[in-house]
Amino acid sequence: MNIAIIGAGISGCSCAHQLTQAGHQVTVVEKGRGVGGRMATRRMDGARIDHGAQFYTARDIRLQALNKQWCKEKRAIEWYDQVPGRTDIPTDMRYRGKTGMTGPAKSLTQRSKLALNFFVEKIERTKGWKILEREGEGRVLEADHLVITMPSQQMLELFDRSRVELGAESMGRLEAIRHTRCLAILGILDRPSRLIYPGAVTHPAKNIDWLSDNQVKGISQKPAITLHTSADLSQINWDVPAAEWAPELLASVEDQLGARVLSWVPHRWGFAKPLVTFGASHLHLPELGLTLAGDGFGGERVERASISGLEAAEAILGTIF
Ligand SMILES: Cc1cc2nc3c(=O)[nH]c(=O)nc-3n(C[C@H](O)[C@H](O)[C@H](O)COP(=O)(O)OP(=O)(O)OC[C@H]3O[C@@H](n4cnc5c(N)ncnc54)[C@H](O)[C@@H]3O)c2cc1C
Repeated sequence: MNIAIIGAGISGCSCAHQLTQAGHQVTVVEKGRGVGGRMATRRMDGARIDHGAQFYTARDIRLQALNKQWCKEKRAIEWYDQVPGRTDIPTDMRYRGKTGMTGPAKSLTQRSKLALNFFVEKIERTKGWKILEREGEGRVLEADHLVITMPSQQMLELFDRSRVELGAESMGRLEAIRHTRCLAILGILDRPSRLIYPGAVTHPAKNIDWLSDNQVKGISQKPAITLHTSADLSQINWDVPAAEWAPELLASVEDQLGARVLSWVPHRWGFAKPLVTFGASHLHLPELGLTLAGDGFGGERVERASISGLEAAEAILGTIF
């Protein structure tokens, strides 16, 4: 079967992996330049910076199997299992991409076709599905079955543009999904930071949830920080220019870093943690040839988003003859 998956985040890529393993032809359609979604790595002034998800866990046996493969392929490695000074936080091993968080997604899509820089403007139900690009090359893809893994709000916008209706109950549950936002700052330091391995601190100062040095983490040649602000600060300052909120936050961590931030850029993550989920790991509608997945279904964090994609694939495989 020819299956298209919209969204190359960890849920879409996990789904693609499972379906290609079962012998299906999969095309992953992604508006960005590469795979990974919120597992994102960016280059900046010679530094490499993980600016979305920082690590993942592998508690579930299915993630353990995938993770074993990622580690074998040198796409991922163990990072740490104890946050320094935080005995209240679970000690499960955190893994990271060896050269950045996009590693696992790259591994999962080795057997899929990728349609990158492809913003899906519209989907049309034919005998199967047509997937139409917004602008650029005006590409049109056809598929027997469609999987959509973009955050639920973007899914609803796509359904609206495409005049797709799933029925009142499903639409109501989709509309109820809510994510927190996260304002991030990526910064280059003037010298190596004082942070000790693993190079990450949770809640280092007021209104900051996460601070890490990507050099100590092991992915950057240059000292470069990722700073994630709290959900409350992000919500309040969402439309405020970063120049009005970022300098004060950066100043509040310079002592801990033992370094000055030479240059920085902000990044706005519109979907960080799902606060309200769909209530099931995926929605499979065999009569429409349509399956929905993602962290808005599976729940908070990389591991659950991946399981959402895997379970979506299992549902599809269970209804293919
Ligand atoms: C700042 C931040 C920090 C986080 N930290 C952690 C962490 O340390 N550990 C952890 O486990 N989790 C963390 N998370 C959560 C984790 O990143 C997510 O739960 C998980 O990556 C979601 O994967 P997904 O596949 O559901 O969605 P996504 O990764 O968002 O994938 C959806 C994809 O759909 C694409 N898309 C959207 N619209 C279109 C369109 N119209 N056409 C084509 N493509 C489209 C997007 O570009 C995206 O690539 C963090 C999240 C954020 C934002």
